[in-house]
Amino acid sequence: MIIVPEREIGNLITPEASFEAVEAVFAAMARGDAYNFPVIREAIGYADALYGFKSGFDKAGLSLGLKSGGYWPGNAAKGLTNHQSTVFLFDPDTGQPKAIVGGNLLTALRTAAASAVSIKHLSRKNSKVLGMVGAGHQSAFQMRAAVMQRDFEKVIGWNFHPEMLSRLADTAAELGLPFEAVDLDQLGAEADVIITITSSFDPILKDTQIKAGTHLACMGTDTKGKQEVDAALLARATVFTDEIAQSITIGEAQHAVAKGLIGEGDITEIGAVINNTAPGRTSDAQITLFDGTGVGLQDLAVASAAVELAVKAGVAIEVDM
Ligand code: NAD
Repeated sequence: MIIVPEREIGNLITPEASFEAVEAVFAAMARGDAYNFPVIREAIGYADALYGFKSGFDKAGLSLGLKSGGYWPGNAAKGLTNHQSTVFLFDPDTGQPKAIVGGNLLTALRTAAASAVSIKHLSRKNSKVLGMVGAGHQSAFQMRAAVMQRDFEKVIGWNFHPEMLSRLADTAAELGLPFEAVDLDQLGAEADVIITITSSFDPILKDTQIKAGTHLACMGTDTKGKQEVDAALLARATVFTDEIAQSITIGEAQHAVAKGLIGEGDITEIGAVINNTAPGRTSDAQITLFDGTGVGLQDLAVASAAVELAVKAGVAIEVDM
C-alpha cells in the first residue's frame, strides 16, 4: 500500500491535472460508469466536530474508495486547518487497500476544477469579467482554475466580510489581472461569469441582479439549509449540476425544488454536456447555473491522479499491510 502525505500533494498535482481528472469522472458519471454511494455526515458530539464519508466507484477510471473527514472548528487555535480530510483508495479487483492520500489540498483543487469544468462547457466564449462572491480559503483556488478557461480581463468581487477581500485582490495580482471590490448590483451587471463560494445560509445574489448571458458556478452550498442565490434565479436559468440527487437535497437547487419553482427533470448533469448527450448553453442570452455540490468521485479522481504522480516522482511511501 502507498501513502501520499499531505505535504507532497502541492508538488504533485496541478490545477490542470485536477481539471482533467474531474472532467473525466463527471463524464463517467453521466455514462453510468461511475456512481457515488450515499453520503454519511454526523455531528459526533465531541470537539464540536462534523465527521463523515463520501465514497464511490468509477468503473472507467478504476477508482474505488472514500474520502473521510469533516470540520473541527477548534483546529485553527491549534494551528491546524479546520477542514480535515483523507482519501482511502482500494484495489477494485481484490478489495485490498491501495493508497492513503492527504485530502486537504485535493479538496480545494477538485472543487475549483468542478467550477472550471462548468465554465469551459457552459460560459460564453467571449466572457471577459469574472465575478467572485466569497473570499474564504476556497476562493483563491476557484479564481486560479477559472482564469485558465476564458480570457478574463478583470476580476471583480464582493464578500460578506470585506476585510477578507485582500485574498481576492492578491490572487488576481498573482494572475496578472486587475481587481475591483464592488457591490452586488455592479457585480451582477458587469460579470460574465460568477463564482459563489461562501458558507451563507441566505441568498446573497438576487435574481434581478443577474444579467442575461451570465454563467454562475454556485459552489458554496453543500449542506441542507445553505443558500447563495435567489431560488427564482434557478427558475430563470438553465440549471446543471455534478449529481442531481445531491443538487436537489443539499445543493443550491434544494430551495427552488422545495418551492416548486423547478423539478428534478429541469436539472442536467454536466457530464451529459461533456459527453454531448445533452445540450449545454444554447444562446448568448441564456443564463446557465452550475450547482456544484461536491461528490466523492471527484476526490477519488484527483487522489488517484496524485498516487500515479507520486509513484512516478518517487515520493510515494510504500508500507506493508
Ligand atoms: P471559509 O470559512 O474559508 O470562507 C467562508 C466564506 O463565506 C467567506 O467568504 C465568508 O466571508 C463567507 N461567509 C461567511 N458567513 C457568511 C454569511 N452569513 N453570508 C455570506 N457570506 C458568508 O470557507 P471555504 O473553505 O472558502 O468554503 C466556502 C464554502 O464552500 C463552504 O460553505 C464550504 O462548505 C463550501 N465547499 C463546497 C465544496 C463543494 O464541493 N461544493 C467544497 C469545499 C467547500
